[in-house]
Amino acid sequence: MRVRSIRCAVPFALSVALVLAVTLTGAIAQTGFGAQARLISGETRISGDAAALHMSLALSQAVPYRVRVLGEPPRLVVDLNTVDWAEVDLGDMARSVRSVGALRIGYLPDGWARLVIDLAGPFVLSRSEQRVDSVQGTSQIDLELYRVALEEFEQLARNEEQFAARTSAALLHPNAHVAGVRFEPRKPLVMLDPGHGGIDPGAERDGVREADLVLEFARHLRETLLRRGIFDVAMTRDADEFVSLDGRIRAARAVGADLFLSLHADALPEGLASGAVIYLLGDKASDDSAAYLAERHDRADMLAGVDLTRNTDEIARVLMSVAWQDTAPRSRALAEALVEGVDAGGLRLHRRPIQSGAFTVLRAVDMPSVLIELGFMSSPRDLANLQDANWRIGMTEAISDALELWHERDQALQPLRRQ
Ligand SMILES: [Zn+2]
Repeated sequence: MRVRSIRCAVPFALSVALVLAVTLTGAIAQTGFGAQARLISGETRISGDAAALHMSLALSQAVPYRVRVLGEPPRLVVDLNTVDWAEVDLGDMARSVRSVGALRIGYLPDGWARLVIDLAGPFVLSRSEQRVDSVQGTSQIDLELYRVALEEFEQLARNEEQFAARTSAALLHPNAHVAGVRFEPRKPLVMLDPGHGGIDPGAERDGVREADLVLEFARHLRETLLRRGIFDVAMTRDADEFVSLDGRIRAARAVGADLFLSLHADALPEGLASGAVIYLLGDKASDDSAAYLAERHDRADMLAGVDLTRNTDEIARVLMSVAWQDTAPRSRALAEALVEGVDAGGLRLHRRPIQSGAFTVLRAVDMPSVLIELGFMSSPRDLANLQDANWRIGMTEAISDALELWHERDQALQPLRRQ
């Protein structure tokens, strides 16, 4: 089989608008673009994991095509001129691919067929190639994408913004007759957020740093959750490094997290607080300790030069937003399930186990988020517990029980929630 390769060098292009009608001239002569091409089942494939996406579209004949990766939300847009989608169920094919959210196919008024894939984070295109079998007349379009840091994606997005605005607004218009295929992810994804890290050690007692304690705890919790097989798990940091509060939320969004669990073990000056506390986002702190903790957690961001001057406004805006009306009760239910779990595990709870405060890290409106103080390093008993392997096993099991309980209840309420 003679294969003609039409390769497009894509150095690091975020979005490559490739209208291959020009480069395909040779192939046109041999295969012709006359009739509508079909996707060939069995040879069309979508695969990948959380960090990569590969797609091979096998076609009954070569077609002009163009590929773009757009931001906000990240998505891959593939246009083919002209192709009949009917033969292959791409949605079904993509169902087990972690990097893919929803997938939509449709036809644009001007004859282009469009495929839009929601990406579970910032991806860029590393390869885009159509290979034409000049004997059979068939072709295969191969696309490869890999995940990049959000900063890199945003930088590239800015460069492409104007072009994207020109093309995507018109092409992604809902009137473009897009047939929908939407599906649920396989497992809910928990984002564990070990507090502090890097320049910010958190609380310190007897040479023990909160940043280290909670990272160690998060790793054990991740293991426990993965072993049970109900959830997938990601972490905002897996090393002693500084991550801004906003960066933690963005990291959770980037992987499409379903819930956000910030882990802490702070110290309070009066040294009286002990036992686990679950904090929710609120405009008014439930007490002085909550106000102190919220303020203290913002301090590292300020040290690192992150501008938090509008933070109070931001939290007020979140609390008033429509999306929050859906998320707030889910966060509260999560907090309640955690209290039940910790209590059932025979572990210590604070006398007021659910509290609220203006915690910057909890202000994502699109996923239930809570902050757990596993205990307080300022309490000698809690500090001993936090360093005790048996206590840690008890606590990771209790939290895992709680997350499963919450998820079950949350699923049951799903049909009642507005879309
Ligand atoms: Zn902390």
